[in-house]
Amino acid sequence: MDVVIRGGTVVDGSGAPPRTADVGIIGDRIVEVGDISARGAREIDADGLLVTPGFVDIHTHFDGQATWDPILAPSSQHGVTTVAMGNCGVGFAPAHPDRHDWLISLLEGVEDIPGTALAEGMTWGWESFPEYLDVLERTGRTVDLGAHVPHAALRTYVMGDRGADHLEHPSEAEIATMATLVEEAVAAGAIGFATSRTEVHRTSAGANIGTLQAGEAELLAIAAALARAGSGVIQLISDCYQTTDDDFARRELDLIEAIARTSTRPLSFTVQQAYQSPDRWRDLFGRIDGWRQQGLDVRGQVAPRPIGVLLGLEATANPFLFCASYGEVAQLPVPQRVEALRDPERRVRILSEHAALVPNLPDGIARQIMAGWDITFEMDDPVDYAVVAAKSLGAEARRRGVEPAELVYDTLLQHEGRQLLYLPLFNFAHGDFDDIHEMITSPLSLFGLSDAGAHCGAICDASSTTSFLTVWARDRAEEQRVPLEQVVHQITRRTAAHVGWLDRGLLAPGHVADVNVIDFAALGCSPPRISHDLPAGGRRLVQDATGYRWTIKSGVPTFDDGIPTGALPGGLLRGPRAAPI
Ligand SMILES: [Zn+2]
Repeated sequence: MDVVIRGGTVVDGSGAPPRTADVGIIGDRIVEVGDISARGAREIDADGLLVTPGFVDIHTHFDGQATWDPILAPSSQHGVTTVAMGNCGVGFAPAHPDRHDWLISLLEGVEDIPGTALAEGMTWGWESFPEYLDVLERTGRTVDLGAHVPHAALRTYVMGDRGADHLEHPSEAEIATMATLVEEAVAAGAIGFATSRTEVHRTSAGANIGTLQAGEAELLAIAAALARAGSGVIQLISDCYQTTDDDFARRELDLIEAIARTSTRPLSFTVQQAYQSPDRWRDLFGRIDGWRQQGLDVRGQVAPRPIGVLLGLEATANPFLFCASYGEVAQLPVPQRVEALRDPERRVRILSEHAALVPNLPDGIARQIMAGWDITFEMDDPVDYAVVAAKSLGAEARRRGVEPAELVYDTLLQHEGRQLLYLPLFNFAHGDFDDIHEMITSPLSLFGLSDAGAHCGAICDASSTTSFLTVWARDRAEEQRVPLEQVVHQITRRTAAHVGWLDRGLLAPGHVADVNVIDFAALGCSPPRISHDLPAGGRRLVQDATGYRWTIKSGVPTFDDGIPTGALPGGLLRGPRAAPI
C-alpha cells in the first residue's frame, strides 16, 4: 500500500454518516476503505481528523490563469481537487488571433480579471477549442480541470463582431457552424457548453454580453448538438433569478426547459436571491422540481453563503469611489492615499460630497455599494461569513450615534488601508440565512457560484467550500445545522456526478485518490487580502485557510498544512469519467 490514512473520521461523499476507518491508496486510486492491517509506505495519522474526498468545484473562471498557473489558488488551498471552468459562457476558445484583445476585455469586464495580467500571462497557441485543450493538457497542476465551451467566444468566432452584439442573430449557416463546433469540442473533451443571459455581464467597455439575447433557434441547435454527441452538460446564468417581471421570468424558464429537453443533457443554472425579488428563487426551484419529476436532469446552482462583494481602498470598489475629492487621491499608492484620506479637511469634503451623491443613486448594486450600510460588514480574522444584520456597520453607527458614512470611512482606513468590508450582494434579502439553508439542503440544488479565479478585486468566494463546512456543519445553532455528510456530499459527489465525473467525489475502492484530511475544529477562512501576484503585477484577492492538514490529489500530497508541496499530479479531464468497475 502506498499511502494509508489511518483512523480518521471518514465522510465518504455518498451522504452516508461519518465512520471511523482507514483509507488505503495505491498509485492514484483508493483501494480500500475499512480496517487496513497492511502498513503503507507512507502512513498518515488521521486520528481525530476528518477524511473526505477532494472537493469538486464546477463553477470557476480559471480559463486564463490555468494557462500559466499550476497552483490555482485559492481553490486548491480550500480542499478543491477538481474544477470546471468556461462557466457563464466566457473563456478564450475558440478564438481567431485577431480576437485575443477583445476576449481579454470581455473577461476583464464580465469577471474583473485584470486585462494586463491576462495579456502578459497568456501565451495563446490555439485557435480551436480542441487546440485549447491540447495546450491545457501540457501542464501539471494541483487540481484536475475540465472546460465548457464558452458561448461568447464561440459566437464571435463564428459571427465576427456581430457575435458580440446581443441584438444580432446568426444566420442558419452560422447556427449550423456553431453546433458543429460544439459537437467537435465535446468529442475532443469539452465537458459541455455554457452561456450567459444576464445584464450584469458586460465587457470592459460596458457593452452587454453578445449572448444576452441569443435566440431559441441558436440555443436549441447547440442543445441538439449535445444530444447528438450524447455527452456534455449545459451551464448558464439568466436574469430570471433577479427579475421582478413575471412574464420575463416565465419566458426565460420556458427557454431553459426547451434547452434541457432538446439536449437531454444535465443542465444547471444560477439560483440566488436578489434584494428586489427575494422570493423569485422559489419559482425557479418550483419549475426545476416539475422538470425533474418529468425526468429532466436540471439543478439550480446555489451558494452556501451570500455572494459577497469586498470593498476597500485596494479593492475594485469602495463607497467613496465617485466622490471628486476621493478621485483626486485615488491613484496614489495605498500608504500615501491613507495619509491623504486622514487629512481632516479632505475627510469632511469627501463625506459631504458623498452625502450629496447618495440621494441621486439609482436603486440596485451601485446604491448598495455606495450606501448599503445595513448590509456592510467589517471583515474579521478569522472571517465569520454567517453575518447578522445587527452586526452591520449601519447598526453599529446607530449604537454609537455617529453617521454611518463616517464610521465606514474610518473603518476603511484601518490596518494601513488594507481593511476589507463585506457586502452580501445576494442571498441576504431577509437579513438572515434561512433561505440559504433551504437552498443548500434541497435535492434540487447543486453547489456552485464560487466564481473562483474571477472578480479578482471584488469577490473571493473560492473559499465557499471551507465555509460550507464551517458555517453549516459546525457553527450553526443545532436546529439549523446541516449534517456533515450532507455538506460533504454537496461539494464532492453531487457536483462530480452532475458533470459525469463518476470516478471521483467518493472515498471508495477504485475511485481517484483525491482526499482531504481536515482538523475540523481548526478549519476556517483567513481574511481575504489583495495580492499583486498575477502577471504584470496584476491584482487579485487571495485567501488562506486553516485546518486542512493534508490535501491529496491522485494519491500525491499537494498541500501539507496549507503549504504547496510542489507536486503537480493534476491535469486536464477530457469529458466524463466512467465509474470504476
Ligand atoms: Zn460565473
